[in-house]
Amino acid sequence: MDLTRARAAVAPLRRDHEAANALPTVDALVAVARPEEPMHCLRPTAIAAAAANFVRGFPGETLYAVKCNPEPAVLRAVWEGGVRHFDCASATEVALVRNMFPKAGIHFMHPVKARGAIREAWSRHGVQDFVLDTAEELAKILAETGAGAAEGLGIFVRLALPKGVARYDLSGKFGAEAAEAAALLRAARPHAARLGLHFHVGSQCLDPLAWRRAMALAGEVIQAAGVPIEVVDVGGGFPVAYPDVTPPPLGAFFAEIEAAFEALALPGAVLWAEPGRALVAGGGSVVVQVQQRRGQELYVNDGVYGALSDAGAPGFVFPCRLIRPGEDGSGEAEALQGFALYGPTCDSADRMTGPFWLPAGVREGDWIEIGQLGAYGACLRTAFNGFDRARLVEVRDRPMLGEESPAAIAA
Ligand SMILES: *Cc1c(COP(=O)(O)O)cnc(C)c1O
Repeated sequence: MDLTRARAAVAPLRRDHEAANALPTVDALVAVARPEEPMHCLRPTAIAAAAANFVRGFPGETLYAVKCNPEPAVLRAVWEGGVRHFDCASATEVALVRNMFPKAGIHFMHPVKARGAIREAWSRHGVQDFVLDTAEELAKILAETGAGAAEGLGIFVRLALPKGVARYDLSGKFGAEAAEAAALLRAARPHAARLGLHFHVGSQCLDPLAWRRAMALAGEVIQAAGVPIEVVDVGGGFPVAYPDVTPPPLGAFFAEIEAAFEALALPGAVLWAEPGRALVAGGGSVVVQVQQRRGQELYVNDGVYGALSDAGAPGFVFPCRLIRPGEDGSGEAEALQGFALYGPTCDSADRMTGPFWLPAGVREGDWIEIGQLGAYGACLRTAFNGFDRARLVEVRDRPMLGEESPAAIAA
């Protein structure tokens, strides 16, 4: 019985929508397939539930940040959860989303774009919204679309934020300083059917007040610009749980954003958000196999050049559990110990400190499921050293951490 299939980077996967509850469990798949290559386990029901939860709670429009996980089965699950808009950053992402969802709203939210990507997005894929943080990019967008307000062009100005408290600080690379952002809003206004101010606090941001501060700065910029705007886009960065982190509930972030937005009193303006991690992190895990044990270090078949780059230098801690088919959890009764992992490549940087908490008797041949990897996991993998034979399966398991309950999707 072949329960696994090859990963597809861009081609849409077929999935039987009625069969969500008939999907296998991770344990059943490991028992049957005994995979010697990494096995990526996708939980479409959990992703749809997390997306539905965000759409229901956020006081505005929800755009999924495609870079976080562009797997077609993930996009389909996010759509099932009610997301109809997508934040894309490249021509490839735009084409992928358009091919899968002819009616989706697609927004090109990268501030520095290739001219050809702008042309292709506008004329072939019906993308109308583009972000920028310089006057040069505004000129580029106007030249390559040949469009303006009358043709429905939407222009978004990316505002730089002071260095924040996010796990991944993204303030250094993009964004116009406040005075420049105000000037860009003024310059863009005559050309825009939809004018927006956009910011991104950084990824895995644990402090709801980060959005309040960003919103206050946005308010100053809008006032300085002296032109009306239609959208405030608060970006992504909404956090999820990891074993060493329990973030405030999403509702706390939404409440700050809504209150801060209302305080700006912008007539006719609406809110957008661009979550990535918050929708999909819990929906992905990877099952690795132990190839050798050396004391408290386990040599496994996936690593920082595969789906586990955040477990390397960035030092994220992920939940994990032992899978030993046929032993019905007896291994789990053993005391847990902290282990470090080595990935399969020959690079000594291919090391994950963890700690990964596993039964003391973990040994060669055991499988380990590592969770919370739906965001920035499989999509960052490489073929370095020839280790690129991971398989993708869809499973019915719940996420290994967090609140996303598959039952919530029915509610
Ligand atoms: C990466 C990114 C996102 C998504 O960030 P998450 O931390 O995954 O929510 C949203 N908007 C922009 C502009 C991004 O670069």
